[in-house]
Amino acid sequence: MNSLIDETNAIQIRNENAFRILYGVLEVGLAVIVIFLIADSIIVRKLIVNPLISYNKRIQQDETIPVIGAAELQSLAETYNRVYEENQETQKIIRHEAEHDPLTDLLNKGSFDKIMSLYKSGNTPYALVLVDIDVFKSVNDTYGHSVGDKVIRAVAQTLKRSFRTMDYIFRIGGDEFAVVLVNMSVQNKPALESKLEALNKSISECTEDIPRVTLSIGAAFSDGELSTNGIFNDADEALYYVKEHGKNGYRCV
Ligand code: GH3
Ligand code: MG
Repeated sequence: MNSLIDETNAIQIRNENAFRILYGVLEVGLAVIVIFLIADSIIVRKLIVNPLISYNKRIQQDETIPVIGAAELQSLAETYNRVYEENQETQKIIRHEAEHDPLTDLLNKGSFDKIMSLYKSGNTPYALVLVDIDVFKSVNDTYGHSVGDKVIRAVAQTLKRSFRTMDYIFRIGGDEFAVVLVNMSVQNKPALESKLEALNKSISECTEDIPRVTLSIGAAFSDGELSTNGIFNDADEALYYVKEHGKNGYRCV
């Protein structure tokens, strides 16, 4: 009986030791798995989740995205940034074409209407100058349309040189131009008049190989004594007055 008890005890002790070792191995294995899971989630967060959060934020702010994170995401970011830059360039070209006249690269009639409605509703004084080439039809009839185009471009260049960079210069029709002189009050009338006088002189001194033309110019001030018809009509009537009185001149009202 005693030997049976001793044998049973010995078996129990052997089994207990075997179980303890197995349990220890299991614990170490579990600890290793937990450490792997934590490390894995840190790596996933750093290389994938954080970059995606930052991409999302930048895309919502309409900006390029940082080249960070896993190699695949970096490559995605580089592709996105390249497409973004190309898109920005295309948008710039489309916007420029929508706002500018292709022949002279001056602002077009649509831009003129927009700027005028902005200035009309604002408090800043401004002057409006309307310019029309005299007997321009005869230039086309005599020298041809392409020479006429050269004359239009030369007038546009003269206008660009004559006014401040802050002023808006438009081609609003075939041979018609407009200039919005910003921050210009009726007190500056003498200064504007001498500028308009010089304009016809610069046109006549144009060194380009094109037929000589003259300009008729009408101007009005937003804070001047405007009629009820508004600043555009007043400047246009001033221009019409010059046309009716020999052309090649200016009138400021
Ligand atoms: P006025 O002194 O009264 O202004 O006479 P004008 O001959 O200048 O005026 P009119 O309005 O009769 O003629 C303008 C001409 O401009 C008519 C049109 O054929 C021409 N024109 C309009 N757009 C262009 C263009 O882009 N290029 C060229 N070459 N001619 C144009
Ligand atoms: Mg004309």
